[in-house]
Amino acid sequence: MIEVRHLRKAFGGVPVLRDVSLTVSRGEAVALIGPSGSGKSTLLRCLNLLTLPDSGAVRVGTQAMDFTGGQRLPRDRDLAAFRARTGMVFQAFNLFPHLSVLGNVMEGPVTVLRTAPAEARERALALLDKVGLADKAAASPDRLSGGQKQRVAIARALAMRPEVMLFDEATSALDPELVGEVLAVVRQLAAEGMTMVLVTHEMAFAREVADRVVFLRDGTIVEDGPARQVIDAPREAATRAFLSHFH
Ligand code: ATP
Ligand code: MG
Repeated sequence: MIEVRHLRKAFGGVPVLRDVSLTVSRGEAVALIGPSGSGKSTLLRCLNLLTLPDSGAVRVGTQAMDFTGGQRLPRDRDLAAFRARTGMVFQAFNLFPHLSVLGNVMEGPVTVLRTAPAEARERALALLDKVGLADKAAASPDRLSGGQKQRVAIARALAMRPEVMLFDEATSALDPELVGEVLAVVRQLAAEGMTMVLVTHEMAFAREVADRVVFLRDGTIVEDGPARQVIDAPREAATRAFLSHFH
């Protein structure tokens, strides 16, 4: 479902991704872990071309883009088509403050997918129900807790019918008591077979929910294996050293 080949990215001459290759199968949940600055967010953003790689190739479902040979920049229309295949949830919730919760979830389908408003509304309500917020449909986002906002952000991403969901530290900005309700939604998506890549510092969650864990350090994949094996019995000394900070 996702295939990344020989991805390279530098910022101001400093390499951040150094020849990263990664494959994610349909229905697989992959947790991306690693120290701050190791390139996790950059890799995730390259998966939906929010960040453009310097070289390498990215494929999500049937959408593929090859940056090898430093060819010219893709057209906006092609980028939009590519991004439409992925839903992304960030640490900051980025909800539209002037729209209701329901409006936030309907916005993309109505304006981008040209879904009829009645149909978009019905589906948005179903998604809000799925994330446990059916009773907040009419509320303004500023009335919600962080955990509720993040669940709206997930419903909003799902409303676009993505083939793949990308999460970048979706729970890092939350008070500890609100983390569980967001992880429960992610856990449910994994159980339903959504293809996902999650950047997370929640090692216990990665171990439980992810099929695979990928450890990134200095822009290189150091270890990639079954979640329990990587977390419980890492093969690489660097992975062991990183994980020792979480015990
Ligand atoms: P964290 O755990 O702190 O979120 P990360 O693993 O997600 O870290 P990235 O955000 O991918 O790391 O950043 C990797 C490196 O690239 C860092 O040194 C960062 O400063 C740099 N970087 C990321 N984005 C940019 C940018 N737009 N411009 C310049 N440098 C950047
Ligand atoms: Mg990051």
